[in-house]
Amino acid sequence: MALARRSHLTRRSLLAGAAALVAGGRARAAADADVAVVGAGAAGLAAAAAIRRAGHTVVVIEARPRIGGRVFTDTGLGPERSFDAGGQYIHWAERNPWAPIARAAGVRTTSDETSAWPVLVMDGARASDADRRQRRAGFGRLTALLDHPALPDRSIREAVAGEDATALAAATGLTRLTLGEEPDRVSWADYDQLWSGDDIWVDGYGALVARHYAALPVRTGTPATRIDWSGAGVAVETPRGTLRASCAIVTVPVGVLAAGGLRFTPDLPAATLAAVEGLRMGAYTKIGLGLDPARLPAQDLRDAVLVRSGSAQEPGFTAYLEMQPFGKPLAVLHCGGDAARALCEAGEAAAVAAATDHLASAFGAGARGAVTAGRLAGWWTDPYARGSYSIARPGRLAAREALRAPVAERLYFAGEAAAGGGAMTVGGATLDGERAAAAALKRLGP
Ligand SMILES: Cc1cc2nc3c(=O)[nH]c(=O)nc-3n(C[C@H](O)[C@H](O)[C@H](O)COP(=O)(O)OP(=O)(O)OC[C@H]3O[C@@H](n4cnc5c(N)ncnc54)[C@H](O)[C@@H]3O)c2cc1C
Repeated sequence: MALARRSHLTRRSLLAGAAALVAGGRARAAADADVAVVGAGAAGLAAAAAIRRAGHTVVVIEARPRIGGRVFTDTGLGPERSFDAGGQYIHWAERNPWAPIARAAGVRTTSDETSAWPVLVMDGARASDADRRQRRAGFGRLTALLDHPALPDRSIREAVAGEDATALAAATGLTRLTLGEEPDRVSWADYDQLWSGDDIWVDGYGALVARHYAALPVRTGTPATRIDWSGAGVAVETPRGTLRASCAIVTVPVGVLAAGGLRFTPDLPAATLAAVEGLRMGAYTKIGLGLDPARLPAQDLRDAVLVRSGSAQEPGFTAYLEMQPFGKPLAVLHCGGDAARALCEAGEAAAVAAATDHLASAFGAGARGAVTAGRLAGWWTDPYARGSYSIARPGRLAAREALRAPVAERLYFAGEAAAGGGAMTVGGATLDGERAAAAALKRLGP
């Protein structure tokens, strides 16, 4: 992928082992490329594409053996049981660049969001009509409360302080299943600033992103360990050599930055560190269960299922089961918050067993026999993600914008965490990568 213009490489870059990283453009005496992009998720790929379009050289360094980052179509249960382990919806489709790309590519989509919960299971038993009515009332109350964000910024948990248990259960369900986090850790004002609009469910969002950017020069399997920005440019250190560039666009998740998964020399300025500290990673988690259709109980299992344990209590477990998405012999359990963290930490076998229990609680013990295999998408324990997506802590609304401020005109942070109203999404990460590329191009000049 990255070797097309080998004759343009400098001798030094070959010796450094970074030769294969360089693609296109002029050989430069002082740098291996104009721009180094760290991370080949949606933001990094979009940034690299923009740099290339502008005629500058770019190298993308990616720790994983694949591109796409947190948008990834997992085929580990077999191609006929593929599912998106990360992003699956094109949110706010009216302005999302992936909506026209998906249409042009002709991928299967649906606008059905499995939000009707035809089956509701609470504490292992099917909920009554009265339970359902209560739940609807709780959501109605929550929606009314969240419509008027209070200043100073507070947590979503505080928004429902003094409300009855149904409003609290609604707040907990909302934050766990949309933000992957407990309601007391989420900024109400940040939630309020998120863009909304139509959602399009894509069959293979990760595969679409990977195909779209397949021609970009990416050095996979190459974790960046340190970025030295003490000189005029940057030096990105990796186990396969050091890459020198005029500037770097850094798109690793904020969870990776907070955990010290990428170091900087000199240390990052206090304002950038404060921005990283103002954000944290949620733990939205999916567990895929392969199903053998011939062994499914007679009952129709096509309906989405909401599973809630310890319904109005904290801590508790809230999940939903996506049954046979796009007609595939598969169920996907979605969960978030501390119970999801615990499942990631318990490992794949325990998580698959728990998901199977929830399937059985909805459809009877017979459903267990239909489960053929399972996959845990454990982003929380993934060293290159450290969580699902960024949450602004209560009172830290400004953190996303602060993260966008360039450091010494050499380091440009980008990604979903810096995407403002587009945070937590593939579309937001894409737009933010393009925003960072525009800033870097301005610095590089024509
Ligand atoms: C379970 C789940 C469900 C989601 N659902 C949706 C959804 O329905 N719709 C939606 O729009 N979004 C969804 N998202 C969010 C969306 O996937 C992300 O917001 C988006 O993909 C983030 O893109 P990014 O480029 O900012 O980060 P990433 O995709 O994380 O890219 C960063 C890249 O940096 C790499 N990296 C990390 N450390 C290093 C290092 N030291 N050196 C080199 N490379 C490194 C990583 O491997 C990764 O490839 C979901 C996410 C998860 C986890």
